[in-house]
Amino acid sequence: MAQHPGKAVRKVVIAGGGTAGWMCAAWFSKILRDDIDEIILVESEEIGTVGVGEATTPYIRVFNHHLGIDEDAFIRATQGTFKLGIEFVDWGRRGHTYHHPFGATGREFGSLPFHAIWLRDVLERGGSDDLGLYNLQAMAARRGRFMRPQGQNSPLAGIDYAFHFDAGLYAQTLRQFAEARGVRRIEGRIETVELTDMGNIRALQLNEGRRVEGDLFIDCTGFRSLLLGEALQTGFEDWSHWLPCDRAYAAPTRRAGAPAPFTRSTAMTAGWQWRIPLQHRDGNGLVFASPFLSEAEALDGFLARLPDGRLSDPKLIRFRTGRRKVFWHKNCVAIGLAAGFLEPLESTSIMLIQNGIARLQYYFPDTGFDPADIAAYNRAMSREYDDIRDFLILHYHVGERDDSEFWRYCTGMPVPDSLAHRLELFRSRGRIPEERGEQFRLNSWLAVMWGQGLRPRSPDPLTLSLDGDGLSQWLGDVREVIARCCDIMPAHEDFILRNCRAAVIQRQ
Ligand SMILES: Cc1cc2nc3c(=O)[nH]c(=O)nc-3n(C[C@H](O)[C@H](O)[C@H](O)COP(=O)(O)OP(=O)(O)OC[C@H]3O[C@@H](n4cnc5c(N)ncnc54)[C@H](O)[C@@H]3O)c2cc1C
Repeated sequence: MAQHPGKAVRKVVIAGGGTAGWMCAAWFSKILRDDIDEIILVESEEIGTVGVGEATTPYIRVFNHHLGIDEDAFIRATQGTFKLGIEFVDWGRRGHTYHHPFGATGREFGSLPFHAIWLRDVLERGGSDDLGLYNLQAMAARRGRFMRPQGQNSPLAGIDYAFHFDAGLYAQTLRQFAEARGVRRIEGRIETVELTDMGNIRALQLNEGRRVEGDLFIDCTGFRSLLLGEALQTGFEDWSHWLPCDRAYAAPTRRAGAPAPFTRSTAMTAGWQWRIPLQHRDGNGLVFASPFLSEAEALDGFLARLPDGRLSDPKLIRFRTGRRKVFWHKNCVAIGLAAGFLEPLESTSIMLIQNGIARLQYYFPDTGFDPADIAAYNRAMSREYDDIRDFLILHYHVGERDDSEFWRYCTGMPVPDSLAHRLELFRSRGRIPEERGEQFRLNSWLAVMWGQGLRPRSPDPLTLSLDGDGLSQWLGDVREVIARCCDIMPAHEDFILRNCRAAVIQRQ
């Protein structure tokens, strides 16, 4: 049956004012300015936000840029620092460290991917197996350096980066932006969700008898998923059997030393610990799997490892890894934690919020809520969550760690077919096929598969006829260019002090 076109959506209601809610409000207040009558955001200070989420991926720059937010002003306002990637300590095996850097690794070699050439040199000729030497972001991270892209025809022109920031301050910045563009904020607790006979959401009932009607509802209520999950009863796909971490303790400490331009993730006996440098403090957190480590044991270990200068008591956050079976149902779209959560190992949540927003803009509905648009949105978002899920499982599944029940479980567990297939392809001839639209591309898969210790049985056959000495020489040149570029980059701290200093940087 043909779908009748509806009327224009005139009123958008955003439920929740965490990072997701205010990102939606800021974006749609700019994009829909001339198309709708009103955007209302309902939030409850009493309930509060999840209060973590300090590391990002480079896509956030696109979001801020489209809003017209000046980058230095944003860094100052959020106590931000720059991030060139993630350093993984003790992951593939104890005592081993590798970087998952942003940006390009190596450079083009005719029609062959860089890593095929490099693998030939490593596997057949004993060349350097230090992949980081071929990535400017990895080298700069190791040496504590940072600058923005500069010039042309050099790796310096392609520097790729993200940020660490105080998520609460980011939400405040976005709130100012959105309210200045007419978003109306209502302080109140959502008590019930009123549905029509057709199962659409008609209104939110708040405490003190208030009621908020709307055409389109965006559920940003966090883990509660009050609208899409609770009221509309869309099921949840639980991925805890693949990603068993389900708890975190987080606590800030006084800044110690110059801020590193990367997130550090250190593997522990039943999870991992993060360290995120901001300008005014360091963020620390322990992510762990409660079936393998009790909350009490986790807290003891976390406190024992915390550096001096704790600024608040550790906060415990309980979560479940997985996603909603659908993200958009009827007239309700869930974005942020209300849509699902993949643990923070690769800092993907804010990126998923951003992509949810971009897709909602693309498929923006009228009141007919055409099922074809909804299905396309759900398909694209599901695929994105599934791809990231596979990438995260890779970190746990591949590696030599067998020193705890947790690691034995992770390295021995069956993984999704989609991941098993990728691992087998790399094991065979080092191939990493790129799927369209994936957030983590060839260089990311390469860095983590190699870093975790996965090795191909033999190189790409098309590299075998190439002159080995010539290849070694060429690889040496690539390394040298990267090292020379790194030499001229300033220290990360100096770059911040010169361009976007937020406050006096405290030293221990
Ligand atoms: C341990 C941990 C570490 C993380 N680290 C990162 C990271 O490094 N990078 C990253 O990108 N992401 C990270 N995340 C995810 C990140 O925190 C979230 O994606 C982000 O904060 C968005 O959260 P949210 O806005 O969806 O939910 P929340 O922050 O929980 O906000 C929910 C909102 O809904 C409101 N609300 C709820 N119920 C009601 C009600 N009944 N009535 C009215 N209002 C209500 C709340 O008041 C709040 O305003 C991390 C998450 C965890 C758990």
